[in-house]
Amino acid sequence: MVITHPAAGSRWVRCARCGKKTRAERLVKGFGRDCATFLGLIGSAPDTGQDGPDLFDALAEQRQETGSAGA
Ligand SMILES: [Zn+2]
Repeated sequence: MVITHPAAGSRWVRCARCGKKTRAERLVKGFGRDCATFLGLIGSAPDTGQDGPDLFDALAEQRQETGSAGA
């Protein structure tokens, strides 16, 4: 299982919650900033380059696999 790091380049990925396209480097644990704030991820748990998948990463990966992120 290959885990791609979202920090490389300016990839566009979908928010794991609302599906809105977001710059990969702006993601917070797989969520856009809006959803991350809503979920309380910003402020209490800033994304400081955590290494290793957690529940949110798994959700994000499922989104990317099922959804056809073309363009
Ligand atoms: Zn979202």
